[in-house]
Amino acid sequence: MIRSHGGRVTAVKRAVLNTLISAPQHLSVETLTGSVQQVAPDTSASTVYRILEELEGLGIVVHSHLGHTAAVYHLSGLVHGHLSCVRCAETIEIPASFFSTIADRVSGDYGFTLDEHHLALSGTCARCQGR
Ligand SMILES: [Zn+2]
Ligand SMILES: [Zn+2]
Ligand SMILES: [Zn+2]
Repeated sequence: MIRSHGGRVTAVKRAVLNTLISAPQHLSVETLTGSVQQVAPDTSASTVYRILEELEGLGIVVHSHLGHTAAVYHLSGLVHGHLSCVRCAETIEIPASFFSTIADRVSGDYGFTLDEHHLALSGTCARCQGR
């Protein structure tokens, strides 16, 4: 897919993709850089960031913002919603279908297409409420 869009498949790019495939979770640029540096020690965070932007442009990767931390990345096949606890920063993944009612309403009333994935819903998790 990268090649068919005129991109080059470098060792670093391959390492970024391998990490995203083998660790299907929310990975920050920092975490990804640490993992890529095991293969290519000279890789900087800005190089990884540029690769992630390219992969996002191709629709291979998506990012989310979970609370106040830096953006996190994962493969685009795993789209879901996020509940982010403001106290302990725990993230709960929920099916994108949870948003179908509001997605239908904002589409019908405002012509707006909802992105269920990009921003987390913030609140307080059951544990932090002492339940
Ligand atoms: Zn964003
Ligand atoms: Zn996610
Ligand atoms: Zn919590």
